[in-house]
Amino acid sequence: MATAFAPKVFKNYINGEWVEARGGKTIENRNPANRNELVGMFPASGAQDVQEAVDAAKSAYKKWRLVPAPKRAEMLFRAAEILVERKEDYARDMTREMGKILSETRGDVQEAIDMTYLMAGEGRRQFGHVAPSELPSKFAMAVRAPIGVAGMITPWNFPMAIPSWKVMPALVCGNTIVLKPAEDTPLSTYNLTQALAEAGLPPGVLNVVFGDGPQAGAPMLDNPDVDLLSFTGSTEVGRIVSQACAPTFKKCHLEMGGKNIIIVMDDANLELAIEGAVWGGFGTTGQRCTAASRVGVHKKVYGEFVEKFVERVKKLKVGDGVDAATEMGPCINEQQLKTVMSYVEIGKSEGAKLAIGGHRLESGALAKGWFHEPTVFVDCNGKMRICQEEIFGPVVAVIPFGTFEEAIEIANGVSYGLSASIYTRDVNKAFRAQRDLETGIVYVNAPTIGAEVHLPFGGTKNTGNGHREAGLAALDFYSEWKTVYFDYSDKLQRAQIDSA
Ligand code: NAD
Repeated sequence: MATAFAPKVFKNYINGEWVEARGGKTIENRNPANRNELVGMFPASGAQDVQEAVDAAKSAYKKWRLVPAPKRAEMLFRAAEILVERKEDYARDMTREMGKILSETRGDVQEAIDMTYLMAGEGRRQFGHVAPSELPSKFAMAVRAPIGVAGMITPWNFPMAIPSWKVMPALVCGNTIVLKPAEDTPLSTYNLTQALAEAGLPPGVLNVVFGDGPQAGAPMLDNPDVDLLSFTGSTEVGRIVSQACAPTFKKCHLEMGGKNIIIVMDDANLELAIEGAVWGGFGTTGQRCTAASRVGVHKKVYGEFVEKFVERVKKLKVGDGVDAATEMGPCINEQQLKTVMSYVEIGKSEGAKLAIGGHRLESGALAKGWFHEPTVFVDCNGKMRICQEEIFGPVVAVIPFGTFEEAIEIANGVSYGLSASIYTRDVNKAFRAQRDLETGIVYVNAPTIGAEVHLPFGGTKNTGNGHREAGLAALDFYSEWKTVYFDYSDKLQRAQIDSA
């Protein structure tokens, strides 16, 4: 069992075996809250490892697609039970490798559990449809068919939940998998893989290659034996993925960056909105694709909101996520910390007012990690770079507005379209907002974060390419509609001609 006590050197999972990368190289996985702590060494895989994983997946597909979906689902159900049993250990592993506080990593594992149970249920559903034929003695139906080998590339911020969003629907639909998780958080994917292997998944059905993007992710993109590709990560890399998948016509699913907003109307429950903005802005250290990195506040309540919000942010306890008192952990790595620091300088140079924060935290034990102060810029305008670009850190920009229409314009005035929220007690404004906000997810009187697995998840514009993760929508990506006609008339019947 892989926990804090697991061996320090981990391996790829190919064709049901744990194997070293062919090149023999490894990547260090270190705790971002304490760089002295080595969580483990993971394979630095390359093209040959990926090819072996693809070959194994291709070969396993021949049998796996014929396993009845309810039987495939039973394996998922067993995996969910294992995850439930190991939830605490896996959450602690996750906090060590990514810094997210324990209550949140427990939530991440829980999300994987929820998704696994949800898709186990789909083993006995996956409904198609039957329709009457326009011709006599003819039967017509549409069924879901598996597609083949699914390539998956995942980010570090939800290291068990996001792989589970892809792996579980792909498996229950009858596909086989090659998964390349983020280099910063391989242990959580290792743990998920371990649970599925112990649940009885046949060799080759799920293959996992660890390593960095260009070496271990890119070889999947133009591989003709990979039939579909699901990517979650930055918009920048998503564009590379999309272009690389095009020549082989891979079905390609992209979930990318966000610049999400909470709109606070003048009739909002202000205390609730402040609580939501703190959670939405600084939960997961602002490193959620759905993080509320912008808060638009009606001018009538702007002064009071800013004062109370800043007071509340000042009290946030930053530290190691394993400490139960900690409310916000570190940035994932040095590069991410540097990005945050550079955006603080950009915000200042653009004329935004720094109300709190703005510095790296380096006193005492914090010096060992990549910690940054929770930071709030106020008096921003929606066009500033800090209000347009994804920072992916603990930085919130507060933007005053005068009317509902102006708020919607600010909300929609970014290139991303993942999540948006409005705090109001006016039911008409709430309904107009959900209609007019150009995002894939809208919340009313709740922050921009908090997705549940049985509903579609994804974004518009530069956030996504039209597919959705989770819910029944996930089945649409991992299966193909096959339309089947049975003619039992014993004669040639021509559609549109003989029926006229
Ligand atoms: P990233 O784009 O740097 O990396 C994502 C994955 O792509 C990693 O596994 C990485 O190794 C791989 N990769 C990098 N270069 C590659 C290449 N050339 N070819 C193939 N694979 C490559 O993103 P990240 O820093 O891991 O995650 C943060 C980003 O993810 C943010 O932009 C965030 O908004 C986004 N995100 C989006 C969602 C969503 O559902 N919309 C969810 C979580 C995170």
